Amino acid sequence: MVETSTLKITTVEKSALDTVDFNNLAFGKTFTDHMYVADYKDGKWQSHRIEPFKNFQVHPANIAWHYGQAIFEGMKATRHQDGTPMLFRPEMHSDRINKSAERLAMPHFPKESFMEAVTEIVRLEKEWIPKEEGSALYIRPYMIAMDEFIGVQISHTYKFIIFCCPVGPYYSKPLKLKADDQYIRAAVGGTGEAKAAGNYAGSLLPTQLAKKEGFDQIMWLDANERQYIQEVGTMNIFFVFGNTVVTPSTDGAILKGITRNSLVHILKDKGYNVEERPISIKEVMASAESGELTEVFGSGTAAVIAYVEGIGYKGAMAKLNLDTYKVAPMLKDTINGMRSGRLEDIHNWTVKVS
Ligand SMILES: *Cc1c(COP(=O)(O)O)cnc(C)c1O
Repeated sequence: MVETSTLKITTVEKSALDTVDFNNLAFGKTFTDHMYVADYKDGKWQSHRIEPFKNFQVHPANIAWHYGQAIFEGMKATRHQDGTPMLFRPEMHSDRINKSAERLAMPHFPKESFMEAVTEIVRLEKEWIPKEEGSALYIRPYMIAMDEFIGVQISHTYKFIIFCCPVGPYYSKPLKLKADDQYIRAAVGGTGEAKAAGNYAGSLLPTQLAKKEGFDQIMWLDANERQYIQEVGTMNIFFVFGNTVVTPSTDGAILKGITRNSLVHILKDKGYNVEERPISIKEVMASAESGELTEVFGSGTAAVIAYVEGIGYKGAMAKLNLDTYKVAPMLKDTINGMRSGRLEDIHNWTVKVS
């Protein structure tokens, strides 16, 4: 089935661009002038439009608010050194939101429409893309159910929306992680592979409790044995043992990060051994103790890379020496360099919006 969309664009009378302090951008709090919206009705996506960013009305019985059919993506547009806006692996984001949609019994959003929507909104908002390397226009596509009905069933109507936030270079302070043996994020068979809103709601309490103990984030362990590491906060995780880099194999409960996938390619390009395999918290604690474990870092679109300086597990604390990190800074520089055109993009991951 080919769905052709006629995209209708309504622009603001006056841009808010000159009211924004680009030197003080708090993540996710500044929104650009426009948003993209499409409605799913009668079995198809329709009324594809870009319009001024504004509130919209929602019925109190909106089914998504009660039963949680809500999914999202997070991606970035950056500026090439020559000024051209660029997207990073946009088709992977399209594929992933459709995977998330499948798991929550929501309709696919056609890839052609996704690419058109993201391209057109970035073209329209290109002046909002910060110039400094490491900063970006964060793009938030999402889909929510819109039926006005209280009953646990699949919604018949949906909205697909994209809005954008300019974000500064994301500085994440080195993280202290708590390997949690009480709460879990996701179990195989559940919704952990989907970027489903409810997954994040369930992570808030355990994270709040960990923060009270002085940690920054949770390192999630598997649901069955509370042994195998899944990911950290909302990032995938990597462990460096000299020339070998290990990241947990995606087993059905781990979010398949696009940054994770990119890092695996870059590491292989640079001659590292990459192992995607189950890795237990016991192995991590013992190898941190012996010094074999040299680096631990998280990966995701927002931060790119977040260094880990300590891991707490059952009262013990493993410490990492950030001064000797080599692999994590190299990876961060490589991704940021590709996104600014400073480094060659041998995989053709960046897509110019001209
Ligand atoms: C989005 C997300 C990631 C990282 O995915 P990227 O595609 O690299 O941004 C990892 N874990 C969770 C739980 C996420 O929601």
